[in-house]
Amino acid sequence: MTQTASDSAPVVPAADSTDRPDAGQRQFASLDPRTGEVLDHYPVDDADTVADRVRGAREATDWWAGLDFTGRREHLDAWRRLLVRRIDEFAALISAETGKPADDARLEVVLVIDHLHWASKHASKVLGSRRVASGMLMPNQTATLAYQPLGVVGVIGPWNYPAFTPMGSIAYALSAGNAVVFKPSELTPGVGAFLADTFAEVVPDQPVFTVVTGFGETGAALCRAGVDKIAFTGSTATGKRVMAACAETLTPVLVECGGKDVLIVDSDADLEQAADAAVWGGMSNAGQTCVGVERVYVVDAVADRFVDLVAERARKLRPGGEPGADLGPITMPAQVEIIRRHIRDAIDRGGRAVVGGPDSVRPPYVEPVVLVDVPEDSEAVAEETFGPTLTINRVPDVDRAVELANASKYGLGGTVFARARGDELARRLRSGMVSVNSVIAFVAIPSLPFGGVGDSGFGRIHGEDGLREFARPKAIAVTRFRSPLQPMTFNRGKRTVRTIMRLVRVLYGR
Ligand code: NDP
Repeated sequence: MTQTASDSAPVVPAADSTDRPDAGQRQFASLDPRTGEVLDHYPVDDADTVADRVRGAREATDWWAGLDFTGRREHLDAWRRLLVRRIDEFAALISAETGKPADDARLEVVLVIDHLHWASKHASKVLGSRRVASGMLMPNQTATLAYQPLGVVGVIGPWNYPAFTPMGSIAYALSAGNAVVFKPSELTPGVGAFLADTFAEVVPDQPVFTVVTGFGETGAALCRAGVDKIAFTGSTATGKRVMAACAETLTPVLVECGGKDVLIVDSDADLEQAADAAVWGGMSNAGQTCVGVERVYVVDAVADRFVDLVAERARKLRPGGEPGADLGPITMPAQVEIIRRHIRDAIDRGGRAVVGGPDSVRPPYVEPVVLVDVPEDSEAVAEETFGPTLTINRVPDVDRAVELANASKYGLGGTVFARARGDELARRLRSGMVSVNSVIAFVAIPSLPFGGVGDSGFGRIHGEDGLREFARPKAIAVTRFRSPLQPMTFNRGKRTVRTIMRLVRVLYGR
């Protein structure tokens, strides 16, 4: 999504502010997308404020990095326990800023807590100093590998999972010994502030993890503020702008962008479960999920039955703002028009709506839409829709499904429903993650890395790779004794090279 949501988050004078922004500072409102109610005001942090925050974080790195893994884990565990105690309060805030149902927000916090626990628990084992083999040429050396913190990591997050998504970077970066400055989406500044405020309750004296709020310019300022890495999650278009800004200072980037994930249904699949997964994967969170199911490919032999099962389930879903609603609103108002355009384009090009249609778009809500036989080059199949819509296309066999799945410029996650060939198909999909016979399961397994290929970005959060993403490998070779073979000196004798050649032939030549 390239549109800015600034229109929905008006800049207001400081007079009616809460006590968060300083007097006279520009600020903006965070709104409940279900009602338009103003929830709170937050400062529009400018480049100077961002630079100050990064400077403070830099000063805190010595203390934080100086704690060993055990010391950091104590603080992170205390933060986790505090988040567990305040889970309902946190979930209510997520729900208010995004409009998502309260239980969905609770589950989001559960994922936050699980990943925080995993990252702090495993940091020592994954990143701690360890001896490695010194090899054939250097038996006289002790080789040690350690992963050192980068310093200050800037995290820029989206609004759709405003706690879980950025915490995939924040929890792992902190566990690796970095300080963090976080810029939440302008639609969900309160969630960012809650994370930083609760962290400050357990680490009150050092600005190890702080937040800056504002619009895109605040994020751009963070890219230019001299941080040691930017971890960005958002749209591909903004990801490219972030990379361009970071290129000016050779700041490394982790880029987690959008997707157009498939669900493939083979003829031997459990169709009831596959239909359930398609509807939940495509429509939970009103379809605003980077690894949500957007396209389905089902083999001809079971297509009619599968479409009926999906349609039956999708028709039952009710969007709304009340506690029992299945889906919340479209959080970012500008996205509504994109969803409407994709539905129209699919139908204009010969696709058929078996559930809903263009009239299902009733801002701020979109009712479920299931489209079948949609041309592969239509926007509904080719571009990220980010709404509660599914396209279902028939294929003669799953090999064709894999071919069509892999034709996308995106490659984030994917789902396969199949009995015999599930594992094989999963390996053939061009994506970072795949769930077989369930949907989006990989996000709830903290030991699995998460990230994409192509327009979905690069780099990994979560798991061991997610910890290493926020650390610098440090290689140290220490001489234990003087070797009789000394190849790296101008004083080496001719016999030294001859001996090494003989060794290489014996050890590696056969
Ligand atoms: P955006 O790209 O619009 O914004 C993402 C973040 O970047 C926001 O905090 C935004 O601030 C900030 N930003 C905007 N312009 C700049 C800039 N020039 N420099 C630095 N930062 C900037 O994405 P959305 O918030 O709309 O999020 C939805 C997108 O995120 C979808 O495409 C979705 O697929 C993707 N996503 C990917 C995930 C993944 O892990 N791969 C997970 C979740 C979502 P502001 O909001 O103030 O404009």
